[in-house]
Amino acid sequence: MASPVNPQDLNFILTPLHGASVSTPLTDLGILLALRRVNVTIITIKDNAVRYKPSIDLANATHRLNIRLLCLDPPGEQASEKMRREVLERLMLELKPPPSCIVSSSTRGYTNDIAGKFRIPCYIFNARSCFSTICSSKILSNKLHTTGLTETFLVPGIPHKVELKGYQSPYYGRFCKENQTRETQKGENPVRGTEKFNLYQGMLINSFEEIEPLYSGPLKQKSLFWCIGPVSLCHKEILHKSCRSLKASIDADHCVTWLDSMKQGSVIYACFGSMSCIHPFQLVEIGLGLESSNQPFIWVIRDNVHLDVIERWLETTKFEKRVEGRGLVIRGWAPQLVILSHPSIGGFLTHCGWNSTLEGVCAGVPMITWPLFEEQHLNEKYVTDILGIGLSIFVEARVSSEAVIIKRDRVKEAIRELMNGEKAGEMRRRARKLGEVANKSVEKGGSSYSNITKFIQDVVNLLKLKQTNPTAYQNVFIRSPRPS
Ligand code: UDP
Repeated sequence: MASPVNPQDLNFILTPLHGASVSTPLTDLGILLALRRVNVTIITIKDNAVRYKPSIDLANATHRLNIRLLCLDPPGEQASEKMRREVLERLMLELKPPPSCIVSSSTRGYTNDIAGKFRIPCYIFNARSCFSTICSSKILSNKLHTTGLTETFLVPGIPHKVELKGYQSPYYGRFCKENQTRETQKGENPVRGTEKFNLYQGMLINSFEEIEPLYSGPLKQKSLFWCIGPVSLCHKEILHKSCRSLKASIDADHCVTWLDSMKQGSVIYACFGSMSCIHPFQLVEIGLGLESSNQPFIWVIRDNVHLDVIERWLETTKFEKRVEGRGLVIRGWAPQLVILSHPSIGGFLTHCGWNSTLEGVCAGVPMITWPLFEEQHLNEKYVTDILGIGLSIFVEARVSSEAVIIKRDRVKEAIRELMNGEKAGEMRRRARKLGEVANKSVEKGGSSYSNITKFIQDVVNLLKLKQTNPTAYQNVFIRSPRPS
């Protein structure tokens, strides 16, 4: 007779092998799983191991968890994919309790193969929304990804009317007619995520059902699929929020003290994510727009190639002196979770990365949307046209190759509209309501909380099957596509 499967016997292997946009929420998921008292082992590349150690150590200490963080790269060396694959296999062989499943950040690569070798299920973690995942797949399957820059198309086969220009497609830049890449010319498949997904046991997505029921529903019907977010809500205290990913270039307590001195719901937080590279001329317009809005603000400027140019401008124009007492400039990395969740924040000027979008939703603040690339345009559509909790900075199509696309007056006007415009009250009310729903979804009894339970149960069921019927177990997953 098979022995019962206890949570302590389970070991969930999480492999955040990519950049921060996927690895940060996947690491948060590790904390959420560990809080359910299953063993969690995070095996990752060196950059991520360094980045997430403080957050993991703190979660372990605070909640008496035992999340293990293992590194694939030898010290001082840049490992190849082949080396990492071998190390991952070796580490997994040594684990106690033995691995029960892999949750991978990638549909490509070696994690699925290794899961196959270990005869354990591999789940994919998708850090995008259900809406953008479905739209991307529809755009591709209807061959709309090569639409010209200014041509317009409707995303087919979805419940909302979503009209995009070619440059707003998530594949623009990689696959549009004007900018064909070697990859497409060779006829390689540009898809990330969706159609390879059937190779996997199931998909976990950083979203919650209530925010996109018309999109999470169909994905659920098609396959094993769980909305388990917003995962950033696993960080409750300021200290936890502040050491969630990269070390912030400003003291989180200083931000809090500064925000404490501002009126509730009055501050605009402007931040364009981790990867944006905005032209210095455009940054100047953003700065001047924020200044002329007369609204208090926090403005995050990435420490990329342009920082020294913008730094000179800040100095020569005495910008920070001019806005003293109502404007805070952060160069580099901001403690975003700390800032957004402060009650003084009244609006979020965002590039619409999905993590930032969700974090804005959790904080219950309306947004000014300024998408830059990939699926950010889809997120913008969802926030503005479908959820009605934001407005776009763009008043006309953004088909300009000039450095400055948005002038200071538009920045000022958008802030005015967001804070005091005709629709401001309604947007704020909806944003606050959605924020409450988001927070409830991860609490006991909430949809995402229950979905994590169901996911753990799926792993338990497979382990039971392994004990009772090894042949049936072999046939369930790994390389056997699920019926779609
Ligand atoms: N982030 C942060 N401080 C910054 C910029 C970004 O903490 O100064 C975090 C933010 O909270 C979010 C992530 O980095 O979790 C950015 O992910 P997103 O999907 O929004 O955009 P990406 O950076 O991938 O374009």
